[in-house]
Amino acid sequence: MLALVKSAPGPGLDLAEVPAPEIGINDVLIRVHRTGICGTDLHIDAWDAWAAKTIVPPLVIGHEFVGEIVAIGSNVNDYAIGDLVSGEGHVVCGRCRHCLAGRRNLCAHTVGLGVGRDGAFAEYVALPMSNVWHHARGIDEDVAAIFDPFGNAVHTALAFPVLGEDVLVSGAGPIGLMATAVVRHAGARFVVVSEPNAARREIASRMGATVVVDPGAQDLREVAAALGMVEGFDVALEMSGNATALRTALSAMAHGGSIAILGIPTAEIPIDVNEIVFKMLTLRGIYGREMYETWYKMTVMLQSGLDISPAITHRFPFREHRAAFAAARDGGAGQVILDWTA
Ligand code: NAD
Ligand code: ZN
Repeated sequence: MLALVKSAPGPGLDLAEVPAPEIGINDVLIRVHRTGICGTDLHIDAWDAWAAKTIVPPLVIGHEFVGEIVAIGSNVNDYAIGDLVSGEGHVVCGRCRHCLAGRRNLCAHTVGLGVGRDGAFAEYVALPMSNVWHHARGIDEDVAAIFDPFGNAVHTALAFPVLGEDVLVSGAGPIGLMATAVVRHAGARFVVVSEPNAARREIASRMGATVVVDPGAQDLREVAAALGMVEGFDVALEMSGNATALRTALSAMAHGGSIAILGIPTAEIPIDVNEIVFKMLTLRGIYGREMYETWYKMTVMLQSGLDISPAITHRFPFREHRAAFAAARDGGAGQVILDWTA
């Protein structure tokens, strides 16, 4: 099969012929239809310090995908050939305290699809049946392809109740854009999106932001006051990984507010802990998706009118992967989709 492979340490990816994955008795084999490009894939392509210490080549990369089941292991039930599915990219151990208690997203021994095992930027991908999600009939396959980052957005956006609350979204990358639509759908009053990139601010407006803010040019507290917010933000979603963004959010929170932190900083962030103590804030780290409550919520919110499609800005056939990665690297893009059937 053809796959996008990190063949050796160093920058770049090769579209190469590799053996199709073999499946065990508990696995399914999936013919990949479409995939989404994630920041992780850009790190692996560029071979930065994180990639150099994490990735062991040769590796088929990629973890955001939708496809069709073409083979099932002898022990697999509930899945059949022809089913349209996506995969949860965190393959958990199944044996630790949290896994045994059903809190699989808290497993400390997770192996990442396209990071620690061969991934989905390929014509075929194999996964344990416990990592497979059935799509509802009629779903748009571009949307189905990005259930992984959509799940990051939903997990973060629903970490704290937002009904009637004023929400700050820091960072309007693909995940912040989707989270904007989710908190709007979930009944937030004001959704203020802070993002330095003008093209992304424009998409955020279309995804339901009440106001978009350029953090370099506008003061968040002045924007909040102009909206009539008296106390500050009730909930903030940190989706930038940026130090200034986190510190700005801390200073703009209402007493008793909550911050869900998804963004991954590249260095330590000094913060004023007095802000947390005296405002009695709650900070929570978010990693991955809840298995499978987040997946359920994604499916039913789409069925109840949530539209995340404006977050998808580019589509390429897989052979044009270089152009697709260049688009994904551009600071103004939303989600970039690769079509593996073309
Ligand atoms: P992205 O890099 O495309 O988006 C981040 C956005 O933050 C960019 O648009 C950038 O312009 C903006 N930004 C930079 N400085 C800012 C500032 N001072 N204020 C406000 N915005 C600012 O990333 P993404 O793919 O949308 O992912 C969002 C974040 O979540 C990234 O940090 C990513 O590494 C992280 N992530 C975490 C998980 C997890 O499970 N925890 C999973 C996927 C991604
Ligand atoms: Zn575990």
